[in-house]
Amino acid sequence: MPSTNSPRALWALVDCNNFFASCERLFRPDLADRPVVVLSNNDGCIVARSNEAKALGIGMGEPEFKVRELLRMHKVAVFSSNYVLYGDIASRVMRTLESIVPDVEQYSIDEAFVPLRGALAADADGIADEMWRRVRRWTGIGVAVGLGATRTLAKIASEKAKKGNGVCRLDAGPEADGILEATPVGDVWGIGRKSDLKLRSYDIYTARQLRDADGALIRKLLGIAGTHTALELRGIPCLDAANAPMPRRSMVSSRSFGEKVRDKQYLAEALAMHASLAGERLRKETLEAGGLTVHIRTSRHGVEAFYDETASVTLARPTSSTRDLIRATARGLEAVYRPGHAYAKAGIILYDLAAPGSRPGNLLDWVNAEAVDKKCDTKLMRALDAVNRRFGRGMLRFAAEGEREAPWRVKSNRRSPRATTAWDELPMVKC
Ligand SMILES: [Mg+2]
Repeated sequence: MPSTNSPRALWALVDCNNFFASCERLFRPDLADRPVVVLSNNDGCIVARSNEAKALGIGMGEPEFKVRELLRMHKVAVFSSNYVLYGDIASRVMRTLESIVPDVEQYSIDEAFVPLRGALAADADGIADEMWRRVRRWTGIGVAVGLGATRTLAKIASEKAKKGNGVCRLDAGPEADGILEATPVGDVWGIGRKSDLKLRSYDIYTARQLRDADGALIRKLLGIAGTHTALELRGIPCLDAANAPMPRRSMVSSRSFGEKVRDKQYLAEALAMHASLAGERLRKETLEAGGLTVHIRTSRHGVEAFYDETASVTLARPTSSTRDLIRATARGLEAVYRPGHAYAKAGIILYDLAAPGSRPGNLLDWVNAEAVDKKCDTKLMRALDAVNRRFGRGMLRFAAEGEREAPWRVKSNRRSPRATTAWDELPMVKC
């Protein structure tokens, strides 16, 4: 008898393989078997490696000068980063996914979460295969697809898929136990170096051990975020787009508009808002971005001509300042904006994320006036964040972000109170 229960919802994570290096290869078939690496802004560090380059032992984030001899010896093809190209290829990958499933949530430059519910969940394996096949055929980029009951499990499945045949599903059972057993706890999504050390001191070394650990202990060691991760490993969804761990190397902030936007001013405001959100996240994680891409597009489903454009802006120096980011989005918008279109979505991608001071320095930083400016900026941003933490997000904002009631903002008049995350929306009891 067919089951009347609807199939359990699943998450798919689609992750492009060696993304920047794969993009460089697209138009250079002669590089098919040669190791390829891509360098960060100012050609400082290695930020992407093809499989062949990985096999040579070239580390992620390694300064170029340290491996220069190795690169030369093995005839490695070395590229400066080409954010315009990567941004555009990424948007093609996302669009290809959108041709298969209705919701695509871009998570980083080359990764997207895809919720599969109802009929989609029932055919999850078929859809995963199709995503794997179609992205490769339409864009030339290879992807790995991981399926799991939660985002965290889908992430682990995608790592496994990368090493296998491109698609992996993590269901409960002995096979999943084996995969979690083989996953070091530090590789679990959201478990950073500090949490890793803490867990190890309690003899928790693998994802499986974290899943099966005592809840009270995890809560004590890692707080609420770690508790969420442990629950996710058990197949209980706890993370959404807002509280998911931040990607390590690139960050996306983008959103569809509440209603179509033709006005350039509104596009500028929306992009400034994304700059502001992204800046806040960067500072929270003590990171700086080296590059930024602006992306605007019209709707895929409409009578009007489709328009989709990205522009990349090099930041004069790595930064986490909202002021710098807003200025950069304004420059990007100048490059992509064409009048006459009804825009449906705008967003930014920040690239080349690294901790302040972790990349090769720029001598000019020491001598020019910008260094002084940067100190003021740091203080200003610290004050801004402190106020917003205390009184609620958006209490202090940049004028460039426009008004709270602007038509491009997503309407959420009927949103229920955020009872667990906002103090002023706590349920009230009168007696
Ligand atoms: Mg990737």
